[in-house]
Amino acid sequence: MWNKPFEKLRRRMTCLYAAIFGALILVIVAAAYTFIWWEILAHEKENLVAQIYHEGEEWVESEEPPCSEAAIRSGKMLAYFVDADGTKVILNQLGQGEVGQKIMQHEADWPKKLDTSRLLRMHGENGERYRYLAAVAPVIDGDKQLGRLYMFKNMEFYYHAAYKTLFLLLCMALVLYFAACYFGYWLAGRNIRPLSNMYAKQQQFTADASHEMRTPLAVMKLAVRGLQEDEDSRLSDFAKESVAMLQSESERLSRLTENLMTLARSDEDFLPVYTAQVDMTAMCKKVASQMALLAAEKKLQLKQEIQDNLVMQGDEMALSRLLIILLDNAMKYSPEQTTITLRAAKVKTHLVLEVCDEGCGIGDEDKQKIFDRFFRVDKARSRSQGGLGLGLSLALAIVRQHGGSIKVLDNKPQGTVMHVQMPADTK
Ligand code: ADP
Repeated sequence: MWNKPFEKLRRRMTCLYAAIFGALILVIVAAAYTFIWWEILAHEKENLVAQIYHEGEEWVESEEPPCSEAAIRSGKMLAYFVDADGTKVILNQLGQGEVGQKIMQHEADWPKKLDTSRLLRMHGENGERYRYLAAVAPVIDGDKQLGRLYMFKNMEFYYHAAYKTLFLLLCMALVLYFAACYFGYWLAGRNIRPLSNMYAKQQQFTADASHEMRTPLAVMKLAVRGLQEDEDSRLSDFAKESVAMLQSESERLSRLTENLMTLARSDEDFLPVYTAQVDMTAMCKKVASQMALLAAEKKLQLKQEIQDNLVMQGDEMALSRLLIILLDNAMKYSPEQTTITLRAAKVKTHLVLEVCDEGCGIGDEDKQKIFDRFFRVDKARSRSQGGLGLGLSLALAIVRQHGGSIKVLDNKPQGTVMHVQMPADTK
């Protein structure tokens, strides 16, 4: 059983392998096709020139014309015989049809040098294609050159054979491609498996360790609170300061373990989503009014722009945690006397939540990184605010568990907009 990030990686690697295999197969097919075609053409050119010499000899010996009547009629083989200067036509065997006329029209494209050949591509009146191999060779009688004999061989048969071969090659390539994709999927799985196992063990360890740390931490917190609330204790000022420090650090540690545990589970898809219909309007208002007290303490104003009747399927606890993370961040990174706005609205089929602040903003280079675990733009500042760099990773996990997406936008004129989209309830 793969966990989610590795399944994604496997799919991505398969796509990469498939693209490489596909490109390779196409190159092989193209090379094979070009090579076969080139070989055929070279062979045919050689043959045609040799045939002209042979027909020339027969003409000299018995004046037997180079092409038979049947060959001319079917357009398979045509000939044109002119004197050495090319001015007087000795024999015209181009026939009466369209092909002969076309070949004549393309006289400028005929091979110029003796013993050479060229491929003529022509189009008929009704769009039909004519492809003829044209070659020229001298007709010699003893020492004297009687003229130049042109012969034109219809190449249509070869083209049809080449298309059929190409089709066959492509079919084979397609089968090979699917086999390669399957092989790529298998190969990616084989390469990833050890990594995934290691990762799963590490996740298990994180989840177990943070789970095991919860109880001793809870006991520590209770003990520290007991110390702080013990009216009979005679603690020195230094000891009181130390106890206060103990309390804030144990709070931090307990938040860290809680977040780590949730994240470790979210990787394995164990983040529990107790799906039920959530009244997002009420939930947003409730969280906003709770956070408004904290905001006021920090001399910040929390504005609400929340539409009525917003409902979605989801886990209410997780969704309110998401809102708290975003509002808490907005408060942490905003200067006093600024405004934080919580917007919630339905846009088409989605519910859009936005937390806008007028704080320091986030640079373009960090907009993606802030969702990474333990990433903090300004470490000193974030730590002084009690930040651990886990809040947004958790927010991302929650949004994804609800089939949504989250992104960071710039607020105008300054600050950040955290933009969340999740499927709204359509019922
Ligand atoms: P932290 O607990 O450190 O706030 P988060 O994962 O919530 O961790 O955020 C990661 C980093 O993103 C923060 O350290 C901070 O630098 C930056 N960040 C998050 N929200 C905001 C915001 N509203 N304005 C500016 N910076 C922010």
